[in-house]
This record gives sequence, structure tokens and C-alpha cells, in this order.
Amino acid sequence: MHDEREDLAEIRRAVRALCNEFPGEYWREKDRERAYPGEFVDALTKAGFLAALIPAEYGGSGLKLDAACVIMEEIQAAGCNGAAAHAQMYVMNTLLRYGDEEQKAAYLPGIASGELRLQAFGVSEPTSGTDTLSLKTRAVRDGDHYVVNGQKIWTSRAEHSDLMALLARTTPREEVASKTEGLSLFLVDMREVVGKGMTIKPIRTMMNHSTTEVFFDDMRIPASALIGEEGKGFRYILSGMNAERILIGAECIGDAKWFIERATAYANDRGVFGRPIGKNQGIQFPIARCYAQMRAAELMVHHAAEVYDRGGNAGAEANMAKMLASEASWAAADMCVQTHGGFGFAEEYDVERKFREARLYTVAPISTNLILSYLAEHVLGLPRSY
Ligand SMILES: Cc1cc2nc3c(=O)[nH]c(=O)nc-3n(C[C@H](O)[C@H](O)[C@H](O)COP(=O)(O)OP(=O)(O)OC[C@H]3O[C@@H](n4cnc5c(N)ncnc54)[C@H](O)[C@@H]3O)c2cc1C
Repeated sequence: MHDEREDLAEIRRAVRALCNEFPGEYWREKDRERAYPGEFVDALTKAGFLAALIPAEYGGSGLKLDAACVIMEEIQAAGCNGAAAHAQMYVMNTLLRYGDEEQKAAYLPGIASGELRLQAFGVSEPTSGTDTLSLKTRAVRDGDHYVVNGQKIWTSRAEHSDLMALLARTTPREEVASKTEGLSLFLVDMREVVGKGMTIKPIRTMMNHSTTEVFFDDMRIPASALIGEEGKGFRYILSGMNAERILIGAECIGDAKWFIERATAYANDRGVFGRPIGKNQGIQFPIARCYAQMRAAELMVHHAAEVYDRGGNAGAEANMAKMLASEASWAAADMCVQTHGGFGFAEEYDVERKFREARLYTVAPISTNLILSYLAEHVLGLPRSY
């Protein structure tokens, strides 16, 4: 479509070849059963794609976020669903940046080889909503352990993960000088605690997402599960969240490309009133508009990845990339259904499935309003509203 660095183009071709092994029927069946696409995740892991960001010394390929973005984008552009596996990339990044040598040596090689899955990220809670700093799950130090009580919601892939990055309060909010202090990040080995203090309950959603509620009832974890310093967990997850937003932005670009490609093919093919529907500008223009919107958002995703890879503070760019890309993919999803007419609703075309899947990203991992609020306050200097 446009010039791309040869190493990235090579990755794109390899991901596409793998994805071709997982056609629409595979995803339709998983969607119908709300089943985890384990074969797909295993294939991605075996090919090394999910270890793209893990340094070579730990068995990964030591690539940068721009390459990880290409991987996630191409998965979506091929009609697959990277939501089954994307957390590994950004959660692992937090372990890589803030974990100690012992933790990295203990987990990263297993994650890179596929022996261990790090797919669960427990931040959201039922009563705190987007206001992460008011989360209530408590971790209290007891000798060589922490004892955890509380609840998480929307902890996706928890049933299919060995490890969970968990954010919990270690010092009550009233006792810390700044409300960003007192939260700590833990790498929980779920194999040790499921059924022994940790209970996972699946939540059925409009798309196949393997998301869950997780309950902690006097769950004991070793003190060595703490990542970095106690009380600094919020700061650690913020940098991981920028990577997450950029990667999700790349996924949305892939989705938008899929919708645009499908709509274009259908518009060329479908004959009504004795001519292809694509001959009507009423059909052409929405496709062309979505293409322009996608390309503009794609530039922001690339720019955000570049800022992140340079080690800069990518907060504003990551947020803008995620917002613009999720809006571009949702606009393309809606356009694709409209272009397909009634067939946009038929399971076998995959459009309705991708439409449901694409809807998520203007809400999660952060909703558009909260991004606008961040830009208004932190970039433009408008007064804080909450
Ligand atoms: C399928 C799915 C998977 C998820 N996976 C994970 C996961 O793996 N791990 C995890 O920790 N979380 C996960 N989440 C949670 C997700 O990050 C949150 O749903 C998202 O951040 C929105 O938070 P909320 O649902 O609490 O909405 P709320 O915070 O309750 O907000 C509801 C609405 O109000 C708006 N709003 C709230 N406050 C303001 C304000 N001050 N100004 C203007 N508008 C406002 C929001 O923009 C939103 O539109 C997942 C969610 C879903 C649906």
C-alpha cells in the first residue's frame, strides 16, 4: 500500500502467512462457542511473534514497539482477533522495565518459549470504574507474604493465563501524600492460587473475549511477587499503558483495513440495478472517507510508536493514536455493514463478528472521554474537571 521498511514488511508477510491458516470458519466457530482460540495463540507463540519485545538474552527477538505494532495490525487486517493474545506484549513490558533480575530470569524465558502465558492484567474493579486510583483491592504484608482481598472485573484471559499482573493498594489512600502513591504491582503466579484464594468467573460479552471477574479471598502470595518498589505500582503501569494504547491503536488500524478491503471487494462485486453498487458515489464516498480517516490515524500510531521507541514520554501521542484509530475502525465497521446491506448481518461474511469485536476499542482499555480529558488538561492546560 505504501513504502515500508523491509524488516517490517518481512514481519508483515510472515504474520499474514500464519493468519491464513486461521480463516473465517475458525473464528466463527470460536465465536459461536465463546471459546478461547488456543491453537491460534499457540501458533503465534511458536512462531515467536508474542515474544517480539522480549530481549534476545531471555529468548525473545528483542524488537521494538514498531515491529510489535505491525504484528498486531496484520493479525486484525487478516480477519483474526489479536485480543486473545495482545496482553502478553504490553504486560511483559512492565515486567521487563521494572522487574528485578531474578523475576526476569524466572519468567521471561518461559514466556518467550510459550511455556508460560502472561495474558492477564488485573486493574479494573467494579466500584472504581476508570478512576483507577480509588481501587479497593488490598494487599497486606504478612512476613514473607502479602495477603490479598478484593475483586477485579474485566480481567480478560485470566482462565487462559499462568501469570497475572495485579494492581492492589498496599497503603490506604488516606495515609499517602499523593493519591498516585500506595498502589503496588504484583506478578501473581496463578497456578499457585487458583482455588486457593483466587476464584475466576467468566463474563459473557457481545463478542468472544474470554473476560472474567476475579475474586481474592485471603489470597497469599510470596513477597517476591512484588514488582519494583512497594507503593509505586501506579507509575509502573502507566508506561505499560502507553504501550498498550499504541498496540491497540495498531490493531484498530488492522481492523479498519479489513473493513475497507471487504467493503471495496463487495462494492465491486455486488450487482444491483444492473451495475456494481460500487459505481454509485453514495457507496464509494463512505469507503474513500474511511480510507482517509484510517491513513491519518495510522500516521499517529506510527508516530506514537516512534516516540515510545525513542524512550520519550509518549502519553499524549499514545492516547491520540488509540482514540483516532479506534474511531477510524468503528467508522469503517459501520460503513462495511452499510455497504454489505443485509449480508452485513450474515454470520458467514464475518462482517458482523468483526463489527462486534471492533466496538470495544472506543471504550477499552480507556474510553474516548477520558482521553479527551487527558488532552484537555495535560496537553492544552485547561482546568482539571474531576
Ligand atoms: C471486553 C472488555 C475487556 C476488558 N479487559 C480488561 C482487562 O483485561 N483488564 C482490566 O483491568 N480492565 C479491562 N477492561 C476494563 C476497561 O478498561 C474499562 O471498561 C474501561 O476503562 C472503562 O471503564 P468502566 O467500564 O469502569 O467505565 P466507567 O469508568 O464507569 O465509565 C462509564 C462511561 O462514563 C464516562 N466517564 C466516566 N468518567 C467521566 C468523566 N470524568 N468525564 C466524562 N466521561 C466520563 C466514560 O468515558 C464511559 O463512557 C475490559 C473491559 C471490557 C469491556
